[in-house]
Amino acid sequence: MNPYEVLGVDRSASAEEIKKAYRTAAMKNHPDRNPGDHKAEERFKKVARAYEVLSDPSRRDAYDRYGTTDDPGSAQGMGGMHDIFSGFGLDDAMRAFMENFGFSSGGSGSRVVQGDDVTVRVNLDLEEVALGGRREIEVERNISCGECSGTGADKASGTESCRNCNGMGKVSSVRNTLLGSFRTVDQCHVCNGRGSIPKKLCGHCRGKGFEKKKSTIAVDLPAGLSKGHYIRLRGQGHFPGQGGVPGDLRLLVNNIDYGPFIREEENLVYPLTISYPQAVMGHEFSVPLPEGDSMSIKVPSGTHAGTRIKQKHQGLGRINRRGRGDLLVEIDIHVPGKVKKSEKELLKKLEDSPSFKIKKK
Ligand SMILES: [Zn+2]
Ligand SMILES: [Zn+2]
Repeated sequence: MNPYEVLGVDRSASAEEIKKAYRTAAMKNHPDRNPGDHKAEERFKKVARAYEVLSDPSRRDAYDRYGTTDDPGSAQGMGGMHDIFSGFGLDDAMRAFMENFGFSSGGSGSRVVQGDDVTVRVNLDLEEVALGGRREIEVERNISCGECSGTGADKASGTESCRNCNGMGKVSSVRNTLLGSFRTVDQCHVCNGRGSIPKKLCGHCRGKGFEKKKSTIAVDLPAGLSKGHYIRLRGQGHFPGQGGVPGDLRLLVNNIDYGPFIREEENLVYPLTISYPQAVMGHEFSVPLPEGDSMSIKVPSGTHAGTRIKQKHQGLGRINRRGRGDLLVEIDIHVPGKVKKSEKELLKKLEDSPSFKIKKK
């Protein structure tokens, strides 16, 4: 099952076509219209998830290329391909649906407050791309206040029941929209779903529930990352305070230093210029490897310019797949512009000798 099939659209479908297909399918399968119908609920979840993937150009691109949409480094993504539809709940689907069609709600208390994402840009070296690795990065972010554990309340004074939701933490309402009426249960925006509010604010964070802190976080890098890829660490972003959940930490690949190599997807091309006699007679060369070592390769006799000599599995690791690409040693032949008189005489002799004549077909 792929997201295109789920939405019933072509791989070439435009953003507009995709949104339209999602809207139709989501309306048809919305839990409010199909109470107790678990199959409809599953379909509703699937179309929401499919839309989430296809409406984000970078995720759509990732799906088209790798058949998976996980951020390359997400915990689940590490183990190889897996179902993109797993781990996506009805709450996520409902929320996505409300947000996508712009009638989420007037208040800020409609859902759990999520903290902002923190983006850290990193430059990778070749070895990290080839083999994967581990990076320690320093981030400054808002974390839960150490004094009040993020509640914003003064510990000694205690809390009292929230009057807005009568201590329930939730407020239910029926919303009339262009698309019909939907029942929604929103989190109480006064107490942020906790049902209670502090009698006195925490003195350390002045009731915000968070404080700024620098921390060092170790991030596993899967092999095969490209510029523009990012690794998302869920829940490692800013903590918004007071019953909210932290945003994500995004490690964005800003640049990659390929050194003497040229990248072609998972393969690396290493340009190697050899002399004309070496091309004719063959020669052994030492070529660098992406992980820093070198290996010796044999250029056979009679090698033409432009020939690529393949060294299997010496290229870059692949995202969400096993194995490595290849190292392609691309041969160029040095042709001197100026030669000495004695060399010219040798060349003259070669020109007239039988092996050097171009045979007519
Ligand atoms: Zn505090
Ligand atoms: Zn409340």
